[in-house]
Amino acid sequence: MSDELSDRVAQYLRWQVSDKVALLAQRYPDDTSLTLDWTDLARWDPTLAEDILDAPDSMLEYVERGIRDTPLPVDTSLGQATPRFENLPESHTTAPGEFSPSDRRGQLLALEGQVAKRTQVQPRLVEAAFECQRCGTLTRIPFEPGQFIEPFECVGCETKGPFRINPDQSRYEDYQKLLLENPSSAALGGDTSDIIAHLQGDLAGHGAIANCQDVVLVGELQFRGGGPIPEPQVVVNSVQAAGQTYQDAEFTADQRDLFERLRERPESFDVDIEDPSTADVLMAAAAPKFVSGSHPRDRQVVRGLVLQLVSASTFDGPDGSHYRGDVHVLLPGDPGTGKSVLAKWAAAVAPRSAFASGERVSGPGLTAAAVKDDFSDGGFSIEPGVLVRAHEGIAVVDELDKAGEDTIEKMHSALADQILPLSLGGQSMTLPAECGLLGVCNPLGGHFAGDESLVDALGINSPLLSRFDLIMQMRSKQDREHVRELAESMIRTWSASLKDATGQALDTADADAIDPVLSMDQYRAVLLRARQLHPTPANDRVIEALAAWFEEQKMALPERYRDALADADGQYHGPPVPVTARKLGAARRVAQAAARANLREEITMADVEVAKELVSRSLADLDIPIVHNAGLGGGDVNRREPADLSGVS
Ligand SMILES: [Zn+2]
Repeated sequence: MSDELSDRVAQYLRWQVSDKVALLAQRYPDDTSLTLDWTDLARWDPTLAEDILDAPDSMLEYVERGIRDTPLPVDTSLGQATPRFENLPESHTTAPGEFSPSDRRGQLLALEGQVAKRTQVQPRLVEAAFECQRCGTLTRIPFEPGQFIEPFECVGCETKGPFRINPDQSRYEDYQKLLLENPSSAALGGDTSDIIAHLQGDLAGHGAIANCQDVVLVGELQFRGGGPIPEPQVVVNSVQAAGQTYQDAEFTADQRDLFERLRERPESFDVDIEDPSTADVLMAAAAPKFVSGSHPRDRQVVRGLVLQLVSASTFDGPDGSHYRGDVHVLLPGDPGTGKSVLAKWAAAVAPRSAFASGERVSGPGLTAAAVKDDFSDGGFSIEPGVLVRAHEGIAVVDELDKAGEDTIEKMHSALADQILPLSLGGQSMTLPAECGLLGVCNPLGGHFAGDESLVDALGINSPLLSRFDLIMQMRSKQDREHVRELAESMIRTWSASLKDATGQALDTADADAIDPVLSMDQYRAVLLRARQLHPTPANDRVIEALAAWFEEQKMALPERYRDALADADGQYHGPPVPVTARKLGAARRVAQAAARANLREEITMADVEVAKELVSRSLADLDIPIVHNAGLGGGDVNRREPADLSGVS
């Protein structure tokens, strides 16, 4: 049996993955991992592949031996090479809390989840040399991660010691422990399911773990603790970052056809808009109810979300300055205006995202924390929050107003620098947090009273507000026509969904009500493609138009608040969010994102118009007392008092 197994392993290594083994031989010993695709193995030898799932403990040893015995073109011995399996079948892919620990014990599993906590890389005892304090004899005991026991008796004098570990005679390896959490349970804020995972050797310090990204861990499920209720834990064999980033996205022929159709023939999509642009199709596909026939202010909100999802280019300039491309959006609104629905949709469709509710999570849940606790055996554990987990994606925070002052303060600096600094005793470290923030919040007291400014109504300090590129207030519908339209559309969707769910015939109107313009997968592919583009201004007119807009905004507001600025105490009592260069940054980002949303490589005057419209609306929403701002479905820029109109296009 074992000879036959060895032969089959050897054949696979020699005939199917010889190039991988040869490549490892060149890199060895700097690299000791041989990454193997389980699905590829299953096509070559299904039985062998099944055996690896059922008995990884012994089977991985066979593969290890097989690697050592594979003839190599170069004169190297791969004595310490480790096989690592990725791409496990559906049957063995699960998440913390979603499998039976007793049934799965000893199996190789792929666990998808988010890093809720991780230790730093520490040395771990692989084999301890216990030195007897009576006779000096060494008793050697190997340990699996998470295990530690003293020898029962000395191999020399057969007494119970006492023993002391002799470090020079013991073997150590790099080690890291992490807590993997089920992302869906964490997002809902209810009971969380998690599992401890152990990373050894060159897996310790893996980039995806260090940065606390969502991951797929492949490993063997083992039981720890000798009592009647042992604890299931995973000894990890391989680590992969979960989700797709735009850098490594590759597209199928169908997807490329879709991009071309979106770019060349947007009118061929079934959207209720005349002569739509590519961005219009993306908006209609995002939230049909908010787009066709609805109030312009609602359409602006949807446009803002689509632009946040594609965002602008993030890069470092030759002089070292960091250009943030992520677009931060705040949606303050009355309850029932659909803001949470839109936010949850954005989190779901984004290729990478993290979701949290400000009410349910404390500070670290939104930012990050370094804590000293039992988990890390006296060292530091890192707990990442949504801003870290959303790196290279978007962080969606519902009920941001409930997050508390401290958290808001920390979030503010994270949004500015796109990193989160952590202090670990005397040391410090940073976690990357390059993400767009979508904040959703309610006014104090639940509803906008109608006469206070948005800043007063929100109770969020204004430095944080100034970090948002777009702040778009959503008010409950008050005019007859829109209330009726919304109600009708909701009943229509309910009716069509019910017919669909119970197998009744759908007419065209029904199909329109529930068929998405783009599937979630298609939408995600378009977002990834858009983020691969780096549009630049088409000509000088574009640059001049942005500059002229900024000049108008900047000069208009001091005029309005001239008296306040002239205060004798030297304090600024002007508008809550003064028009600083940040707003120029916001306009630049929104314009570039608008070009991306049209899958264009150039920023045109049309994109500048979008930027002017959205950023001006943000300034107006923030600045104007709500009594002037009230109107159909919210405020209306055109209702500003004549004196206020200067500078708002
Ligand atoms: Zn002894």
